[in-house]
Amino acid sequence: MHTVIKSLLAFVLALHGAGAQAQVLFACEPEWAALARVLLPEAQIHVATSHTQDPHHIEARPALIAQLRAADMALCSGAGLEDGWLPVLQQRSGNPKVQVGQPGLFWATEGQSLIGAGASAGNPFTGDVHPQGNPHIHAHPQRLLAVAQTLARRMGQLWPEQALVIEERQRGFETRWQAHLKRWQSLSGALRDQAVVAQHTHFTYLWEWLGIKQVADLEPKPGLSPSPAHLQQLLRGLDQFHPKPLGLAVAMHQDPRAARWVLQQRPALKLWVWPATVSQTDEAGLVQWFDLLLRDLNEGRT
Ligand SMILES: [Zn+2]
Repeated sequence: MHTVIKSLLAFVLALHGAGAQAQVLFACEPEWAALARVLLPEAQIHVATSHTQDPHHIEARPALIAQLRAADMALCSGAGLEDGWLPVLQQRSGNPKVQVGQPGLFWATEGQSLIGAGASAGNPFTGDVHPQGNPHIHAHPQRLLAVAQTLARRMGQLWPEQALVIEERQRGFETRWQAHLKRWQSLSGALRDQAVVAQHTHFTYLWEWLGIKQVADLEPKPGLSPSPAHLQQLLRGLDQFHPKPLGLAVAMHQDPRAARWVLQQRPALKLWVWPATVSQTDEAGLVQWFDLLLRDLNEGRT
């Protein structure tokens, strides 16, 4: 009964909210736009980057400045991922709502323990693009769910009149996501303790979730291009790993030449060229992305 009343109330509030002007959101990466769409479907959502772009390096174009200027909220990964371009956009937009320290600026990595953070964090002066730890947390579906929870709370603070509706949507998402998690777990048992190689650390949190070991990176440091000397060393190292790595993961926006060269030297490896994020910025897009990753990893096993 209690739930029925809450649902009714949420429905009435949603009707009421429909009359108000929809919020404008600015997402730095597509995965956060997808979560925002789940929680606030009526909002106008701009996305600064796509699955075909490198989110570390984006040009601060006038169109992006105009979008951020109009935004009621900005959603970004944080942990330094957007350091090369977001500060310029914030400054040029002149929008007080989305400046650092304001509730209108949401960092998805805030409150998460990041791989590579802390004492062992990288050095930006040596070209490391992850000086605060690895920011690509969206490749871990449980971490993504935790972000949805904190995002729902933040949206509720910003727009208290919609807080209940947003909370209802978040709970609905959580229920559906848990069902997907169960399904994905049933597909992933045999992947545990397998080894892989990757170019950059886009999928480090995917490996964390699945219990897979990334035994080598084509990049000498996060953000540094593969060098011939590094690749030679990597090949020598690969032969010593047991079990033998299943495959090599490269993000769609990356230069695939180094990966192809490694494949020529070690043809038993499978090459996975994946979008590093969703290509469709909604819940279905999130589900499809994890479906794709798991399908390819399982095919690599046979
Ligand atoms: Zn990165």
